[in-house]
Amino acid sequence: MKTDIIKKYAESYDSFYLYDEETIAESIEELQQCYPHATFLYSVKCNPNKDVLNAIFSRGFGADAASAGEVKLAVEAGLSKERIYYSAPGKTLSDIKNTMDVAVIIADSLREVARIQQAAEEKGIVLDIGLRVNPLFSYPDGEPMPAKYGIDEEDAAELIKTNPYPNIRINGLHIHLRSQSLDGEGLAAYYKNIFAAAERLQAVSPVEFDYLNMGSGMGITYGEEDEALDIPVLAATVCEEASKFTAVHPQTKIFMETGRYVTGHAGLYVTKVVDKKTSRGKTFVLLKNTLNGFVRPSMARMAEFFAGDEEPKSNEPFFTSTDAFQFIPISDSQEIEWVTLVGNLCTASDVIAEDVWMPVLEEGDLVVITNAGAYAASISPMQFSSQDGPVEIFLPIF
Ligand SMILES: *Cc1c(COP(=O)(O)O)cnc(C)c1O
Repeated sequence: MKTDIIKKYAESYDSFYLYDEETIAESIEELQQCYPHATFLYSVKCNPNKDVLNAIFSRGFGADAASAGEVKLAVEAGLSKERIYYSAPGKTLSDIKNTMDVAVIIADSLREVARIQQAAEEKGIVLDIGLRVNPLFSYPDGEPMPAKYGIDEEDAAELIKTNPYPNIRINGLHIHLRSQSLDGEGLAAYYKNIFAAAERLQAVSPVEFDYLNMGSGMGITYGEEDEALDIPVLAATVCEEASKFTAVHPQTKIFMETGRYVTGHAGLYVTKVVDKKTSRGKTFVLLKNTLNGFVRPSMARMAEFFAGDEEPKSNEPFFTSTDAFQFIPISDSQEIEWVTLVGNLCTASDVIAEDVWMPVLEEGDLVVITNAGAYAASISPMQFSSQDGPVEIFLPIF
């Protein structure tokens, strides 16, 4: 851990994120080497920090944008239209109008396709769009399921075949059913099913698809007992399937998406001890901006609480598993004590660790929380109680 750098920034800030370009670059290199057939799109929602975006886009990734705001961030970072894919449920007519010139729109429902037709017609253009498809299987290879996302494959096939919209050309597909899987065999089966779905839809399409976006799925380790995905092994299977597909459909580019795989391990959250008290024998260490600055550790405790005696189910991206974060103290003390780590908000939910051994922590000492690069700042309720929130610091490669 970069203890000296952390201590230096802690002189100026009571809580902050520290993002590290080197870790981002390493994961990007691994993915690009293992999946040479694929172009990657970065899921902006997991960490939209501008320096992080530049670090990722400058290495060849495009953008998976989940809102008009994320499209704007990708445009501001310098990406051209063919590198920005806007795929999200619930796009309004004005979302469509505001983004159709600068991003490729992936329609998420049949009604949305009608709204896109309206926007394209008003503009007097024929717009190329993709469809997000809810395929005839569930992850990894189960029965089809109802979903909030995408258009059921049966309906998509009909739409592709008979497209009644004169101002729309459907020339791309997007399928994404799963995030944070550490099951290589499951993922391999899943990607194979995606190629099969693409074959079915290509068979009824009057045009050759320009791209097949295979979504995300690859997970990262959170807890110490998590076993990392063997990316080279998984990629070997996926590449074989991809080359079979590409042999038949050489015009169709293959996209894969990822958010957390490139940023999840590239961020730390640092929080400072602001007070300490012993109440009827129990010692509380109060930290700056825990629940409001980085919500996931307190959420994990809530998930455990609600689950009672059961193992809480994952609920991405808010809750992955218990023990998904390490709390690393930075203190000069050689003594340890039994403490509860809480935040400075006026809610009893603001607890990140209860009854743990820690070195003796005093005001000004630090606690570092790991796995804070993805779904961290971007999903935390920073408006809660109008605190001065954490700053985000980016450490570039020199
Ligand atoms: C959130 C999201 C992702 C990113 O998932 P990760 O688990 O962070 O890789 C990819 N694709 C879509 C469509 C998403 O909604």
